Amino acid sequence: MAGMVAAVKQNPFEIAQTQLDKAAKKLGLDAGVHAVLREPMRELHVSLPVKMDDGTIKVFKGFRVQYNDARGPNKGGIRFHPEETIDTVRALAAWMTWKCAVVDSPLGGGKGGVICNPKTMSTMELERLSRAYIDAIGRIIGPGKDIPAPDVYTTPQIMGWMMDEFSKLAGFYSPGVITGKPLSVGGSEGRGDATARGGAYTVREAAKNLGIDMNGATCAIQGFGNAGQFAALLNKQLYNMRIIAVSDTRGGVYSEDGLDPVALVDYKLRTGSVVNFPGTRPISNEDLLELSVDVLAPSALEGVITSSNASRIRAKIVEELANGPMTPEADDILYKKGIFVIPDFLCNAGGVTVSYFEWVQNVYGLYWEESEVHEKLDRKMTKAFRDVYDMARGHEVDMRTAAYMVAIQRVAEAMQVRGWV
Ligand code: GLU
Repeated sequence: MAGMVAAVKQNPFEIAQTQLDKAAKKLGLDAGVHAVLREPMRELHVSLPVKMDDGTIKVFKGFRVQYNDARGPNKGGIRFHPEETIDTVRALAAWMTWKCAVVDSPLGGGKGGVICNPKTMSTMELERLSRAYIDAIGRIIGPGKDIPAPDVYTTPQIMGWMMDEFSKLAGFYSPGVITGKPLSVGGSEGRGDATARGGAYTVREAAKNLGIDMNGATCAIQGFGNAGQFAALLNKQLYNMRIIAVSDTRGGVYSEDGLDPVALVDYKLRTGSVVNFPGTRPISNEDLLELSVDVLAPSALEGVITSSNASRIRAKIVEELANGPMTPEADDILYKKGIFVIPDFLCNAGGVTVSYFEWVQNVYGLYWEESEVHEKLDRKMTKAFRDVYDMARGHEVDMRTAAYMVAIQRVAEAMQVRGWV
């Protein structure tokens, strides 16, 4: 099985550009428009001095990339990760641009990152770092400019501190500067599970088109953070899928009969990992990806399905809840194998869609019930899936290229109307 010689990790921004180039060619996109879309419009690099609990000063590096705001203010999360790089943030900012366009939200794309390891930091240190980051990027963000949100290893509490810091800089309460906040400070109902819920709606649409019965269908989930945990809960709760394997950074667990997602999430929250969950046998992250399942949900970081394991992927549907989990070479291999990939910036767009709803509610000062959020999210995700599916069929291209084609057309049109190109 997984004879894993770790492949050299490809530069994620080069991957994002390669994906764009492929779709631009299919569309016969104007060379000037294409050139604009290949690069971020603005980026800020900052050094953040933070006083640690032991009294020493540590300097963290951070970034905010604003990729393209032709359709509206930039939008996208902030990652706190020890291996963050500017090229990862650039790629993620590009994907945010396509993500907001594919669901037809009036927003552009941005992303932020700080190189740090939150797992080794105290709550107070994290709060000081979060505030220092907002002090440093404060001038380029705001409800009408650029609206950050959570991403890998950033939480609603962190959004709360960041909103508070920005409000102090602005001199007035500004909940619309950031989304994914706790409910008490302008968060939205339904934001917590929105990424996985949106993904589940797209899986439902894919299964409908492929003639797969979701009741009892098998599902494997790689990664057990926000997206992975809610994917396990919702794929079971909404469609009675059988979650047979789940993994996190420390390893994975497998059960042919299906895992109980509620008990598993509880176990993960108590022990910090899914490893050794009672009634299961261990499985590695690599082997989990190669299971013969109806739905495989890569839900962690980029670059897990590559040319070295793509030929062994046996899922019917890939639910890409992570950003960038597949390389372009792997894409081609899976397409030839007839595996149906729901591409990341369509599949995981539920998070930013409910972020968009949160921002609307903040600006409006009027708040919606959870059922209203779910309904609106379903409508947006179903429409986006349909737009991409129709494009894929009409042009006989894979779903990722089709998603790019839909998104590029929308961003290009906005740039043209505004007179940028
Ligand atoms: N970080 C999430 C994403 O990659 C959400 C971004 C947002 O809500 O703005 O889509």
